Amino acid sequence: MNLLAKKLNFKVLKLLAKNFDANLKLKNKHKIVPLVYTFAVTFAFMLSLTRNNNVNASVNPYDQIPMSELEAGIEETLDNDSGSYIKDSLDNIKSLFELVNYGSSEKVVDKEITVKKGDTFISLFTDLGLTYKEAHDIYQTVKQVYNPTLLKVGQKILLRTKINVQSETVISVESMLIEPNSGIRHILTKNDQQQYVVTTHRDELTDEINSASGIISGSLSGSMSKHGVPHRLVADFIKIFSYSVDFRRDLRKGDKFEIIYENRIAPNGKVVKTGNILYAALKLRNEKISLYRFADKNGNVDYYNEKGQAMKKFLHKKPMAYQQARISSPFGKRRHPIYKDVRIHWGIDYAAPKGSAVYAGGDGVIVAAKYNGGYGKYIKIRHNSEFSTAYGHLNGYAKGIRPGVRVKQGQLIAYVGSTGRSTGPHLHYEVIKNGKRVNPLTIKAATGNNLGGQNLKKFKTMVADLKKSYSTMFAESETKKLAKK
Ligand SMILES: [Zn+2]
Repeated sequence: MNLLAKKLNFKVLKLLAKNFDANLKLKNKHKIVPLVYTFAVTFAFMLSLTRNNNVNASVNPYDQIPMSELEAGIEETLDNDSGSYIKDSLDNIKSLFELVNYGSSEKVVDKEITVKKGDTFISLFTDLGLTYKEAHDIYQTVKQVYNPTLLKVGQKILLRTKINVQSETVISVESMLIEPNSGIRHILTKNDQQQYVVTTHRDELTDEINSASGIISGSLSGSMSKHGVPHRLVADFIKIFSYSVDFRRDLRKGDKFEIIYENRIAPNGKVVKTGNILYAALKLRNEKISLYRFADKNGNVDYYNEKGQAMKKFLHKKPMAYQQARISSPFGKRRHPIYKDVRIHWGIDYAAPKGSAVYAGGDGVIVAAKYNGGYGKYIKIRHNSEFSTAYGHLNGYAKGIRPGVRVKQGQLIAYVGSTGRSTGPHLHYEVIKNGKRVNPLTIKAATGNNLGGQNLKKFKTMVADLKKSYSTMFAESETKKLAKK
């Protein structure tokens, strides 16, 4: 008898533990109600085994007994000789079943609500059937730790409510969980005086550094995700290279990428936030471009090549938002489309729809914005003593663009057109170095934001450390380089 009791107890215990665990996860909305219910029944059974049959099922035991006590109770039961209660208890299951299910006037139900367009924090609760005062109480309490107006459409809120069994209406909110960002949970509960209190739990996050490398086949983002690189980082990766690589033109099948990046990890192992890209490299057919993230002593963060030259300050190769723009005429000798003889083409033509945005290729000052013969509508920007850029065949100028105006790299300056000697809408882009027009695709000059002195020293140490830590990845590319030579 004694053994049977223990066996039975153990089974119940296992079931209980399983249900509780599943219940805590609150993953599946549809599972919640039956689980709470199963829990109530099993718990009542446990209670009846250990104590007596005097269980008041009209108040759900779930919200009366804290978890810690509950666990203590379970252990007690295991050691307890509860054999004499076994028959009574088994009889009681049925009656408890009925009590919990039909007899009580209220029961605890977990709900998951989703914030919809037009909802306010208050209306979420008044819609459930709470009075304005009750909803306002919850609002005021939550406000101590979190601005409830920051709730976003689609945000989910978990509620433990007490509902009237007959009418199915919500009598009260017993507790609530809001997780505005992964790793941060605001939990509303009631204290002994039945007043709302709120606490915030923050997962302790740890930084993890990951690396990945692979051959690019198909799209870059597809290839990177195949190697486990989070999607958001792909966009960052492209941005880092936007000053030196034209992804449409330069990338070929078989090129390789390398990346070292940070992740912020929650205790459960989930990636909460993707962090920074510490290192990014592209191995193109003829060259390898490696970029390292570095914060200088003033806290300015930028990406530098191995020599400590800032990549960001290079002039854009394609100063346009329309990344599909293709080169319709390269720099250098060509047969002129109008004069039909061989002439040197002093810029690059990017074919793009009329009206496409044209950006400043770098920071600088507008020195010309006027009609200029064969160039048609034309802009020239002076970037520094060494470099200028020019833009031809424009359809028009962006608002405020006139000589003397300072512009930022990537700023809208004009629109693609076909003015001047032109056969169709395209941007004619020139880079002028020391007064001579050079190929925009091959310029390698920076405009002076390179690292020097202490910064450069620190940078070089950092690069060396990174190479040591990820020796396998770096060694691989070094070997390949040597093999090529
Ligand atoms: Zn041209």
